[in-house]
Amino acid sequence: MLKFVAGLIRPYRGRLVFILLAMLIETLTSLAAPWPLKVILDSVVGNRKLSPWLHHFFGPAAEGGSKLHFASIAAVAFVLISITGAAASYIDNYYTESVGQYVAHDLRRRMYHHLQRLSLAYYNTHQTGTILSTITTDIQTIQGFASSSTLDILVDLLTIVCMLGLMFWLNWDFTLIALAVTPFLLLFVSRFKKEVKKATREVRKEQSEIVAVVQQGLESIQVVKAFGHERAEEALLDEVSHATVSAALKARSVKALLSPVVTITVALCTAVVLWRGAALILAGSMTVGELTVYLAYLARFFKPVKDLATTTNAIAQAAVGAERVRAILDTDTVVPEKPNALEPESLAGDIEFQHVVFGYDPRVPILTDVSFRIKPGQFVGFVGPTGAGKSTIVSLIPRFYDVQGGAIRIDGINVADYRLAALRQQIGYVLQETVLFRGTILENIAFGRPSATRSEIIEAAKLANADEFICRMSNGYDTMVGERGSTLSGGQRQRIGIARVVVRNSPILILDEPTAALDSESEKLVIDALERLMKGRTVITIAHRLSTIRDADQIIVISKGVVAENGTHDQLLSRDGIYAGLYRTQFQPGAAKVEI
Ligand code: ADP
Repeated sequence: MLKFVAGLIRPYRGRLVFILLAMLIETLTSLAAPWPLKVILDSVVGNRKLSPWLHHFFGPAAEGGSKLHFASIAAVAFVLISITGAAASYIDNYYTESVGQYVAHDLRRRMYHHLQRLSLAYYNTHQTGTILSTITTDIQTIQGFASSSTLDILVDLLTIVCMLGLMFWLNWDFTLIALAVTPFLLLFVSRFKKEVKKATREVRKEQSEIVAVVQQGLESIQVVKAFGHERAEEALLDEVSHATVSAALKARSVKALLSPVVTITVALCTAVVLWRGAALILAGSMTVGELTVYLAYLARFFKPVKDLATTTNAIAQAAVGAERVRAILDTDTVVPEKPNALEPESLAGDIEFQHVVFGYDPRVPILTDVSFRIKPGQFVGFVGPTGAGKSTIVSLIPRFYDVQGGAIRIDGINVADYRLAALRQQIGYVLQETVLFRGTILENIAFGRPSATRSEIIEAAKLANADEFICRMSNGYDTMVGERGSTLSGGQRQRIGIARVVVRNSPILILDEPTAALDSESEKLVIDALERLMKGRTVITIAHRLSTIRDADQIIVISKGVVAENGTHDQLLSRDGIYAGLYRTQFQPGAAKVEI
């Protein structure tokens, strides 16, 4: 934990030294602040001689100068002390905030960088809402802590030590009496720390649940409405929100104990100081000025103690935040890249699966032994019952997941030997639904290849049969589309999806039944666009409607985790196996169904 924090603030060492200096000056000024008053009380109002070092300080004035002159020097000293303290405090405040902000900035970048590289497997098992909450709120608490309290703790400790020194120097036995209760206070604070951290962890967990519930509810708002689940969603929020309230109240009931305990301790100490101090002054062994310094110090002495305790709270929050950030940063389900990974300019598109074994959970294999070979430029269809693993197979080609056995080779080289970005660059997707981002149509198409020029994008849109409807829109290519493309029809979204793959111009194309969700009118336009797109590329398509793959060079039937059949349409029909059975159910509704 300490190493983690040290790593975070290391780049800001220079600033920290600067801040520390400012804080030292603040401490010194706060130590010096009550002394002018002491001088006035004891040596101006009273008749006490200045102590030798103060005499040295006030030297010239003390020689023959009037007492009032003395007082004015003390007053000026007081103002100077305050101004110096204020300036140091300004510098300290500004620079500490800057360290806090930059630490948060670095953390956010590091975390998002890591999140972008985590395997999809991570997202299958972690809630987006919780991740969101960590990257916003948890980092913010760490920032709050770094901005306010990192060095305060050091300075507080230093202030306490210096004050104790001065107090002992003034009157040691009196100091002992004055501070008799302090050990109990420190004991209490340290016990208290553990409790606060536990409660804080609980609060953060519940808070991130809220984000998770809201995020999920809003993301699927259409389904929620369609199924009339509004109340159920509200009830979910109600539940987590209530849990947050009770967790927060429980945490507060612990934290709120601190302030009264400190206040009572301060009152007790002050009472002792007043009572004993008055007696000592009457006995002539203490001056009024000294008692004043004591009283001022006592108030200040407990401020750092109190601060230390509030810092305890901030430390607890930041520690919990750091725990949650680290839980993400330390997850190593990143798809690993080899140090000397290959970066091919372009691939021919020869794809081979050799005895591939894979399961999302390695204990539950989905693919038990899958082997096939797709030659460059071939058009291949995957067929099989739902849940057989067709989508799983195609998601292994761009290495969204790593296989547990066997190998996948593209152009004869294991996919694990390519640099991920370079490998994925070679693959274009058109899925059942095209996900669009909030932005212009132009930006959405350029998502396929950000370096594409405007004319390349328009060319691609023409090829994808999208140019016409885009030009009819109010701002043409610069029209904004809503979140997830909500302002476009399904067919229009698919054609933008195709244009996106056209600009990408990748040799391997993966199609997951891009026309499945369309009406026959838009289907024709999409199929027409697809046919142009497929020319000269290796095309892998997952077919639900067998008519779409009739002309395929190879039809691979997946069943029960293995390749059950492999051949052309005619070969498979004459084999009269699974494919023939599926074909009959789709095209001759009266025929007997085959068990697959
Ligand atoms: P198909 O595309 O043939 O319908 P899939 O490849 O989608 O089949 O799914 C194959 C099996 O893997 C199914 O049993 C499904 O429940 C499971 N599965 C699919 N995606 C995931 C995932 N992200 N995490 C865990 N299991 C999954």
